[in-house]
Amino acid sequence: MSSAPGTGLPEAVRALAEADFGAVAQRFRDAGFTVALPASGILTVRSAEPDANRASVLVSVGVHGDETGPIEMVAYLLDALSRTPRALAVDLMVCVGNIDAIRLGKRFIDADLNRMFRAQRGALAGTFEAGRADVLIDATRAFFDGSGPARWHLDLHTAIRPSYYPMFAIVPELIADGARERLIGWMGEAGIEAIIMNPASAGTYSYFTAEHLGAAGTTVELGRVGTLGQNDLSQFAAASGALDRLLRGQPAQQANAAPRVFATAQSIMKLSDAFSMSVGRETWNFTPMHKGDVIAQDGETVYTVQHDEELVVFPNPDVRVGLRAGIMVVRIS
Ligand SMILES: [Zn+2]
Repeated sequence: MSSAPGTGLPEAVRALAEADFGAVAQRFRDAGFTVALPASGILTVRSAEPDANRASVLVSVGVHGDETGPIEMVAYLLDALSRTPRALAVDLMVCVGNIDAIRLGKRFIDADLNRMFRAQRGALAGTFEAGRADVLIDATRAFFDGSGPARWHLDLHTAIRPSYYPMFAIVPELIADGARERLIGWMGEAGIEAIIMNPASAGTYSYFTAEHLGAAGTTVELGRVGTLGQNDLSQFAAASGALDRLLRGQPAQQANAAPRVFATAQSIMKLSDAFSMSVGRETWNFTPMHKGDVIAQDGETVYTVQHDEELVVFPNPDVRVGLRAGIMVVRIS
């Protein structure tokens, strides 16, 4: 069974996985929108008359090529929306992040694309993904340049390991209060159970748009990694519904429950090849650890739990030296 896009996929899914926007772009163009394909994998659909009150929404998928669930979800949503194009109530940018990795069914070609959205790339500067990030940064700047103050960026992922909260999101702390409240409200509607407030950039796409382009940007983890064409889309029903209402400018529905909010207690950085971790890649996200527990060691540096309880998220001792090997979080609301 191949995970690469190919025959047998529903047409809408095949098209988005290959960043083939032809049919969707034409429907919006025929309806009078200003449509552009500024780079491979990127579609923008704008109102013909500029309107500062119109929200600008960037939806990105496939930044990690093996995270196919959001590609399927957005493919069906975009295809349906394009068939009633005048229902689109926002300026929209759709970004298919790592097309080459998607084609190969891989997470990335050379290195993690979602660590490249920063000026300092060190040893990663010459990688395939560094070049791709430059393309995405230019197109994203151009999209938000001159748009009104209501700016959203939903970067949709799926997690590579199980999680005590299968649907969760990372939100940069620097997003202004009002925009942050609207974003968190949307997340409740989307079935997001937990939010991690992040105080510092790890080079992610959504932190970049929040920090530099004034967007309410967030990295959303929607369930588990699956094979393109074989994802259980029922797990994305709430998220898909909430995204559809956002793009159509429809009022939010009552959230099932407000997401739990966590603060970042510490980031575990891999400083050298001597790095070792007491939790591994198989550890579930939001696994609790207790005060004094050793999280990781790196030569002289020992990372221990400082609060009565901290929960570990994204533990991965195999990241490159200089990158984040995990986050410890504490619940704040
Ligand atoms: Zn991802």
